[in-house]
Amino acid sequence: MRDLTWFEDSLAALDRVYFHDTLGDVRLEWARYRKPASPERVTFGLCYADERLVRLSRLLARTEVPDFYALFILYHELLHIVVSREHDAAFDLAERRFVHYTEAKVWESPENGNVWRVGSAGPLRRGARRSVVK
Ligand SMILES: [Zn+2]
Repeated sequence: MRDLTWFEDSLAALDRVYFHDTLGDVRLEWARYRKPASPERVTFGLCYADERLVRLSRLLARTEVPDFYALFILYHELLHIVVSREHDAAFDLAERRFVHYTEAKVWESPENGNVWRVGSAGPLRRGARRSVVK
């Protein structure tokens, strides 16, 4: 299950590999789910750089989203804290350092329909698969 603990562990790993353990405290939380205007216009992550806070869409908990893509979203948001608020040249360069950069870009490209599928499916409901004990 890709829960908030999974992302916190991943944050520590990304800090080690890409930021030489210089990241410091960054808070992670789930974003309040809002149905996207259209399924292909999903916001997977938001960064509040001044507050060192990253909000992640609950859609990232879906099994249809591969681990490398969930990691890429987290890495992208961390770059907004470390490198730049904007998607400028320095940001783009840093983003390309991510080991699964190419796979992530292919996964999210509109032709593949992955973002659309995840956006259409909506968030996982807590307790939706609760088993009934008789
Ligand atoms: Zn961004």
